[in-house]
Amino acid sequence: MEILYYSSQGPMTALLQLALNRLGFDAGAEDGIFGDRTLRAVKAFQGSRALEQSGVVWPGTWEELLPFLYTQGVFSTIPYSSEVLKINLEGLKLQYPGAKSEIIGASVLGEPIHMVKVGNRSNKVMFNASHHANEWITTPLLVKLLFDLLSAQARGGELYGVNIGELLEIVGLDCIMMVNPDGVDLVTGEVRKDSAIYNRALGLNTPGTPFPDGWKANIKGVDLNLNYPAGWDRARELKYAAGYTSPGPRDYVGPYPLSEPETEAMVRQTEAGNYLLTVSLHTQGQVIFWTFEDIMPPRAREIGLAMERASGYALDVPGEFSSYAGYKDWFLLNYNRPGYTPECGRGVNPLPIEQFDEIYAHVAPMLVAAMLEITR
Ligand SMILES: [Zn+2]
Repeated sequence: MEILYYSSQGPMTALLQLALNRLGFDAGAEDGIFGDRTLRAVKAFQGSRALEQSGVVWPGTWEELLPFLYTQGVFSTIPYSSEVLKINLEGLKLQYPGAKSEIIGASVLGEPIHMVKVGNRSNKVMFNASHHANEWITTPLLVKLLFDLLSAQARGGELYGVNIGELLEIVGLDCIMMVNPDGVDLVTGEVRKDSAIYNRALGLNTPGTPFPDGWKANIKGVDLNLNYPAGWDRARELKYAAGYTSPGPRDYVGPYPLSEPETEAMVRQTEAGNYLLTVSLHTQGQVIFWTFEDIMPPRAREIGLAMERASGYALDVPGEFSSYAGYKDWFLLNYNRPGYTPECGRGVNPLPIEQFDEIYAHVAPMLVAAMLEITR
């Protein structure tokens, strides 16, 4: 666990503030900045637990905070870094032993790529989030969906009119929680501004692109959703013509298809998973992309229309510039099974976390609809 102290900044500081506030120690705004109020709250908390009142959040202090954090459900009010995800996943598994997880690969920087598995193990769909760094809000959307599905299953209840226990008996779900953890950590502030990693990325940034907010790529500057072998040459042609010819914050296709460990892990997992359907969560635009070239898999339109009804997001086809080398494109090309890319929410990426509840209200019923329709 990250050691936090006066002047620390970032998502883990925000999580610390959230925990202290909820435990009744006033840490002030959950802004991820460890200032005077947070310091006082940490010392008061340490005093209450017979810890040395150093004001430094050492592993011993985290050990006292974690059991509480594990009970708090999804952290949907703070920047959602790979470290925040790890704590949420531990809590999810402790609360619902039916949820299993595994690590399907590692990022460029060696961060684990986590997958959570629930339900039937023979007929499965796969949802994934955060291919794009500044679309990290898609990860807590998936985390909350898992909490809600498992809670409904545990109490024998319904979600959006669907009996979730019965649903999970006939269809399983694999969730790849954060395809691009390094990029997410850059955008959420988990990567410190004085670090070599931050400054190397800054050196790849293009003038006029906000940094790190405009960063979509992995930490090497490859746009992961342009790195799949599905019209990759055409994607390269289009992006090169637009000036995206080298590593940068967005739109660089990489030196060759599947050049990145993150995309390679996705392909390997997809081959192992034999999924009936996949959904890749992106932001923004409130539309659902569902085709690749002239490929329209059996039932893809029908299921897509059910997702459209459930979410209020319209089925759509992207412009030529964004039509190649994405995960969904590769999935459709290789499997001829339904694959979707919902562009969740509306605004400028990264969408503010304040929009979380509103976006979830559209996306969760859409994902449940996809699971239900594939069983019909
Ligand atoms: Zn995206």
